Amino acid sequence: MRILVTGGAGFIGSHLIDRLIPEGHEVICLDNFYTGDKRNIQKWMNHPQFELIRHDITEPIRLEVDQIYHLACPASPVHYQYNPVKTVKTNVMGTLNMLGLAKRVKARFFLASTSEVYGDPEIHPQTEEYRGNVNPIGIRSCYDEGKRIAETLAFDYYRQNKVDIRVVRIFNTYGPRMLENDGRVVSNFIVQALRGTPLTVYGDGSQTRSFCYVSDLVEGFIRLMNSDYVGPVNLGNPGEYTILELAQAVQNLINPDAQIKFEPLPADDPRRRQPDITKARTLLNWEPTIPLQEGLKLTIEDFRDRIKSAV
Ligand code: UDP
Repeated sequence: MRILVTGGAGFIGSHLIDRLIPEGHEVICLDNFYTGDKRNIQKWMNHPQFELIRHDITEPIRLEVDQIYHLACPASPVHYQYNPVKTVKTNVMGTLNMLGLAKRVKARFFLASTSEVYGDPEIHPQTEEYRGNVNPIGIRSCYDEGKRIAETLAFDYYRQNKVDIRVVRIFNTYGPRMLENDGRVVSNFIVQALRGTPLTVYGDGSQTRSFCYVSDLVEGFIRLMNSDYVGPVNLGNPGEYTILELAQAVQNLINPDAQIKFEPLPADDPRRRQPDITKARTLLNWEPTIPLQEGLKLTIEDFRDRIKSAV
């Protein structure tokens, strides 16, 4: 098949491409390099099954493809809040353009949505039926509401135009190739511990998240894309940790003497987040296989190499 990956030079997109090319597919990687990085796709640059297009999806594009994995959007709060209007445009106009493309060429369309559609959840763990508790005018809204309208668009194209859609809701994911300045908690703690600066815990560190290793997530993507189920489907690791527990895990793996510094909790920071993955388990026979300790070790190795080579 010929497969388009928007955001293909990003953290998750590039791991997805690493799976698709060895399976024999032709891959078109589309990226505007806002948070994507050429190093992530360097190894495919001269490969006959790979094509790179520098393009911003807020502008239309004409391509002939069989499947579209639509991942393009900054996903870390630091990056998506840097230019919130652009984040909204990427989710609204970008998703419209990609759904228009899917409709024209009759491609299957996969939307990378997010656990952020649940906002600061009132039910725990979150099932796909839960409609969320999202602030429409807060600093996270450009992403949360952006992804909610992206889901609405996908389902309207499905009902109105018979576009063949698949929708996943991704919970916190980590692994090699996260940007050093990504701003999210796993990469922040690892970079801080490796550089010998204090680990910045926001609030009292009692808020929780569930961390999924990137290869597990990509396996779930491929299973959903090639199944008959439309979604939405939660993909994430149900293991729930407080942020303070995560800081201690990183300390134990890198430097038990690393300091912890408490900083103010950002606005609208969700208190708890944990996926209910019953749907993924029963419909896709999927569940995460990499425990946090193991995934952290693999991620730390990758950061160690990059930080060493930068010095
Ligand atoms: N966080 C933290 N220190 C950091 C970065 C994040 O304590 O250096 C906290 C943040 O306040 C949130 C959790 O870790 O409660 C996860 O934040 P992240 O930005 O990774 O993703 P989110 O799940 O909020 O989108």
